[in-house]
Amino acid sequence: AKGAGRNRYSYFTPTLQVAALNRMRLTNDLRGALKARQFELYFQPIVHLASGAIHKAEALIRWNHPQRGVVSPLEFIPLAEASGLIIDIGDWVFHESVRWARLWRQECHPDFQVSLNQSPLEFQREGGAYQGWLRHLEALALPGQALVVEITEGLLLDASSAVSTRLLQLRDAGIQVALDDFGTGYSSLSYLKKFDIDYLKIDRSFTCNLAPESSDMALSEAIIVMAHKLDLHVIAEGVETPEQRDLLAAAGCDYGQGYLFAKPMPAAAFDALLRDNAMP
Ligand code: C2E
Ligand code: CA
Ligand code: CA
Ligand code: CA
Repeated sequence: AKGAGRNRYSYFTPTLQVAALNRMRLTNDLRGALKARQFELYFQPIVHLASGAIHKAEALIRWNHPQRGVVSPLEFIPLAEASGLIIDIGDWVFHESVRWARLWRQECHPDFQVSLNQSPLEFQREGGAYQGWLRHLEALALPGQALVVEITEGLLLDASSAVSTRLLQLRDAGIQVALDDFGTGYSSLSYLKKFDIDYLKIDRSFTCNLAPESSDMALSEAIIVMAHKLDLHVIAEGVETPEQRDLLAAAGCDYGQGYLFAKPMPAAAFDALLRDNAMP
């Protein structure tokens, strides 16, 4: 059996083999990463376009790998999902987000919100773990409004009852919900009236091609008008130039997020930015 196991790998091309080995090693390292405190939460401001105010930030996880340096979530989140480690990592993200949201509400802005990402797998898991979250918020006397949960469209399409139950559970606790990467995957919009969502995040692939009269401009404008009619606020992702910001603001987009304002940064740096921003 051992020999057969070894033979299996001869089906792979050398590059695939290297990639598979790399994933196995990373997954292995991932198992110890929480305990070794190798994760760090970065924050990127979400800017209110009309006023320039910063009352929200997206929490984005980073893995400070002892040998490889910073590993992108694009690389390790899929491994965390495949191995089930995403549940514990997600709990860590939640607790860190709560810690910072609480501080920034107390010391910078009473309405401050931290927006955190949830993989479909995390979102759909059994309700028990979520109850732990809600109890944690209660124990801290922190209102659910301190948090936004970002999910992707796909979840709402296969609309299992687990998903609706979870959405109602969040809503009851006051936690808001954002639809991430909006406009990328699906053409059906009927779920927008079925579920109570608070924010649409226009995907970066629209923002990066914005120009007057362009088709991406027309699409962005249509998304914004539709969202407002449905009582949703719009956040444009990937704003990199003043021109993009101005076009979005003119189209009535509520919030912008992107390198033009700031890249994601460690909590201490974001804390300093927030305190400057809060100055009269
Ligand atoms: P996302 O949720 O769509 O996050 C936005 C990504 O765009 C972030 O990449 C951010 O750094 C990047 N970005 C922001 N502004 C700009 C810009 O102006 N230009 C460009 N080119 N990029 C910009 P990041 O931090 O590498 O995260 C990648 C993805 O990993 C996220 O995409 C999200 O799906 C996932 N992710 C990150 N943190 C978490 C987490 O805590 N939990 C889970 N489940 N997924 C996470
Ligand atoms: Ca996101
Ligand atoms: Ca996104
Ligand atoms: Ca709503």
